[in-house]
Amino acid sequence: MISEQKRDDMVTTQLESRGIADPRVLEAFQDVAREDFVPESLREFAYKDSPLPIENEQTISQPYIVALTVEALSLRGHERVLEVGTGSGYAAAILSRLAAEVYTVERIASLAESATERLGRLGYENVHVHTGDGTLGWAEHAPYDAIAVAAGGPEVPEALVSQLKLGGRLVVPVGPETQQVLVRVTRTGTHDFHREELTSVRFVPLIGKQGWPDQQQILRAPPKPSPSASVARLVREVAEPIGDIDSDSVRPLLARIGDARVVLLGEATHGTSEFYRMRARISRELIEHHGFDFVAVEADWPDAARIDNYVLGDPIRQGPEFEPFSRFPSWMWRNTDVVEFTSWLRKFNAHAPGHGGHGRRVGFHGLDLYSLFTSIAAVLHYLDDVDSTAARAARNRYAALTPWQRDPAEYGRAVLVGAYESSEKAVVSILRELLERRIEYARKDGERFFDAAQNARVVANAERYYRAMYYGSPSSWNLRDSHMFDTLEALLGFYGPDSRGIVWEHNSHVGNALATEMSLRGEHNVGQLCRAKYGDDGTYIVGFGTDHGTVAAASDWEEPMQIFEVRPSHPESYERVFHESGVAAFRLPLRAPKRAAVRDELSAPRLERAIGVVYRPDTELLSHYFQASLAQQFDELIWFDRTTAVEPLAPAQDRRVVRTATQRAELPDTYPFGL
Ligand code: SAH
Repeated sequence: MISEQKRDDMVTTQLESRGIADPRVLEAFQDVAREDFVPESLREFAYKDSPLPIENEQTISQPYIVALTVEALSLRGHERVLEVGTGSGYAAAILSRLAAEVYTVERIASLAESATERLGRLGYENVHVHTGDGTLGWAEHAPYDAIAVAAGGPEVPEALVSQLKLGGRLVVPVGPETQQVLVRVTRTGTHDFHREELTSVRFVPLIGKQGWPDQQQILRAPPKPSPSASVARLVREVAEPIGDIDSDSVRPLLARIGDARVVLLGEATHGTSEFYRMRARISRELIEHHGFDFVAVEADWPDAARIDNYVLGDPIRQGPEFEPFSRFPSWMWRNTDVVEFTSWLRKFNAHAPGHGGHGRRVGFHGLDLYSLFTSIAAVLHYLDDVDSTAARAARNRYAALTPWQRDPAEYGRAVLVGAYESSEKAVVSILRELLERRIEYARKDGERFFDAAQNARVVANAERYYRAMYYGSPSSWNLRDSHMFDTLEALLGFYGPDSRGIVWEHNSHVGNALATEMSLRGEHNVGQLCRAKYGDDGTYIVGFGTDHGTVAAASDWEEPMQIFEVRPSHPESYERVFHESGVAAFRLPLRAPKRAAVRDELSAPRLERAIGVVYRPDTELLSHYFQASLAQQFDELIWFDRTTAVEPLAPAQDRRVVRTATQRAELPDTYPFGL
């Protein structure tokens, strides 16, 4: 078949049949020979209904997607158009037939050069190619009637929006690397924009100032790391040894933390005693001597609120009946190390008011969103007390979720398959109405209002979370981490403009996700969001690690806790480097270490181990190691070569005590764990 016939075919079967109707667009695809834009070796596939690889691991887009994009730009012929991501130049050639002038920007110089040569040779004279970061647009020729972006970014680049004429259209794929939504932004006024989502697509990443960071390139094609033994020697020189946790001087670490507003303390497992005790040690210093206002942990809001109640030494707060920390994995918070820390915090707070005290009370909060139903109960309980009309309305609207009480994830599935109507509007409206009456409600009791609003926020985000679980990992992971970050922000707001917070969460939440393979999957986390918001000076991130020992974990979700032996670290891991340093326990400053070489060496990506509530030693490499650039992920690392599992509290015993305590409505010293 000759090329023209193939194009004819393509136009009918790939474009028209899928709803591309603009005759000028169809004609352009008829005119431009795609085989001129694909590599020699792939010529025979030039009219395939798919993207094709070009040089530098880039692609020439699928014809249909190019058609969809250019049709959405509604071009009449007189326009000045900007394209970001020249690639082969194919889309630019199509655009050149539909508009007056086409300006196209490509970040990879060699691609820009060959596209320039090709377009020139083929006579597309109204196309102008430029090498540079297209996320910043091409200001020299702005404003544009239309902008098309041929690579997917985390969000709509501001610079591009600002280079649109009034009435101009921008089409850009937005979302995680695995999948994006094609978004059309229309400028309807100087500061007004209309945003529409056209369809779900998958593009190569948009890399630049207002796209994905270049760092990812390092992870994708990592330089070969130095042999672990030589890096281990460097680590030994720089590391600050830790003897006994309780008598360790954390002063050098406190100096490095400086004026940071948020201090994030990680953990490499969810069941290691040393990690809890060291975090407690650091937190006590921060609270006693540096004015920190609260500790926020990877636990559910209503459950942690019971601990908050306990550490503040207040009478038992009104709330629904439930057993705090009874859901899997209970050992994360029901363990002896947490009891010790919260008892200390309670004593600290007891000295707060009155004469000679320090006058400050420090709270304890949960950032997570797995408490859909206890949070619903808490919101209703609150409204019953303050506004019975609102309570009735909320009860009706929340009721639609009740069938899913046992298994909220099942709700997400039912909505996805269309068997059940989403409660999104209902749960969001309850949150909104609560916030709208902030002033009226908070006048009665600001603290209770804050707690109720936070529970309503958990419900709204959990509802989305359970639906997103079925779209795959990036969206549900991101929803959860965004929720945790928003909760942290809400806490900082609640405690006041100069407040400072401490976060205890797994390394995977606190270590900057941009420096790990998570970012390649389009996932962000609390640490990354804190960095973006509070900057380097405002955020201090401490990662934790171990080589071997014991750990509390389960073999699967909802399975009973066991004590596992942690396998010695993988030869290609950071853990191996630290193990080989020969120092049993240490702190390792990474931001400005005594020898810069440490930072460089520990920036070269290696494997890093993460043990969660589930540990599967048999498949350790696959299930528990990921690629990271450690010195970019953390400001400091705390290492314990050999570690010990946390000691869980006996469940039956403490449940009984909690129940009697609630019934008596008074607070025993040991509440809420009741040892
Ligand atoms: N329109 C092209 C598709 C190219 S694929 C075609 O029809 O062939 C996307 C291109 O965007 C890649 O070549 C990639 O290098 C480029 N790119 C990614 N980020 C960019 C940025 N910030 N600025 C300019 N080009 C970018």
